[in-house]
Amino acid sequence: MQLYSTNNSELRVDFKEALFKGLPDDNGLFMPCIIPKLPESFIQHLPNYTLPEIAFTVANTLLQGAIPETDLRHIITRAINFPAPVVKLTAHQYILELFHGPSLAFKDFGARFMAETMSYFNRAETKELVILVATSGDTGGAVAAGFYQTPGIKVVILYPSGKVSPLQEKQLTTLGHNIQALEINGTFDDCQALVKQAFLDTQTRDNIRLSSANSINIARLIPQSFYYFEAYKQVIQDTPNTPISFIIPSGNFGNLTAGILAKRMGLPIQHLVAATNINNVVPEYLSTGVYKPRSSERTISNAMDVGNPSNFARMNNLYSSTWNIMQEHIKGFYFTDEETADAMRSVQKEYNYTLDPHGAVAYLGMAEYLELYPDTAGILLETAHPAKFIEDVEEILQEKIAIPEALKNLEEKEKHSILMEPDFEVFKSWLLEHY
Ligand SMILES: *Cc1c(COP(=O)(O)O)cnc(C)c1O
Repeated sequence: MQLYSTNNSELRVDFKEALFKGLPDDNGLFMPCIIPKLPESFIQHLPNYTLPEIAFTVANTLLQGAIPETDLRHIITRAINFPAPVVKLTAHQYILELFHGPSLAFKDFGARFMAETMSYFNRAETKELVILVATSGDTGGAVAAGFYQTPGIKVVILYPSGKVSPLQEKQLTTLGHNIQALEINGTFDDCQALVKQAFLDTQTRDNIRLSSANSINIARLIPQSFYYFEAYKQVIQDTPNTPISFIIPSGNFGNLTAGILAKRMGLPIQHLVAATNINNVVPEYLSTGVYKPRSSERTISNAMDVGNPSNFARMNNLYSSTWNIMQEHIKGFYFTDEETADAMRSVQKEYNYTLDPHGAVAYLGMAEYLELYPDTAGILLETAHPAKFIEDVEEILQEKIAIPEALKNLEEKEKHSILMEPDFEVFKSWLLEHY
């Protein structure tokens, strides 16, 4: 498998290099040079395959030998070890639940696959690999869980003290083993700056094998295409011969980009529907052809508070910067917090189904989309379990919601973190002493 940079189509790296580098030196994003089509018989026979079998075939086709088949099977078995069930809401409305992994959000798919592939390529190294991650709370939990107990790899997570939710903090600080949390007495930007400085510091680099677990790593994108096939498989059995579209609650647009990959590989997706909160630069681009990034605004679907989505460069590349074709394939809608809260209440009341705020944005997008395309079946991606946002969800619904075992157990666990000032010299000495 060869990859290029969205800033330079001439640049070529192999999968291993893209995996460990995360970002090309020119600050573009890595993209596969070739997106092979799956055999039509595979699509027709999807109902015969399990999720891990589908994941293996999709990954093996994309990776084109970058990982030998037996090793790739092993990686998939370990990474994709939880289900992605579809729940039927109405005749044309389905919900793909992506929150059955360890951190209860879809980011588990990407984080676990990245951890397993890194561990695989790292297996011959004698020196341990140290992964530095700065988190504002959201991705840290998936990364921590994904790398937990991975041999040969240690993870250092930097998070801003007092600025992540109590639950998120527990997800970062209670695992132990190879996962170390640093509670930085500063902001998320301070955390990010410390990580950046460590990568630039020659003494640190000479002594420690460093890597990052960036959210735009290609190894996080690839596994996110698996569940489009899995959902299609479940819905096409329920409603044969109906065109199928996906509604994706979007922030950095990684999930939506993975949907484009699935479509390019041959999955018959009618439309991909981008649903956002008021941070609507992409829906705006789809309707006007003008891309105007701006600073983000806070909403109740805060994992989607993004003003300049990083994966837009990938989307644009996949459509060769042609707005009119992108606009034919991708529909965009955006909604306010009031509309989102109303949707959560009405779905709870009508169907006794609890959506989280991100899924509720997608639900609204699905309703608008199906007005325009009533003969289509819509599958919305429910990206997180509602209990992850328990304070907001209970306040909006005015009732208690059930908490999954995984979260209940967390509450009782003890937090272990090291409090640190946002000072690079302090961070550097700590790193050199411990790794
Ligand atoms: C990260 C996240 C999103 C946004 O996903 P992108 O791939 O960045 O568009 C949506 N919902 C939840 C719950 C998330 O954690």
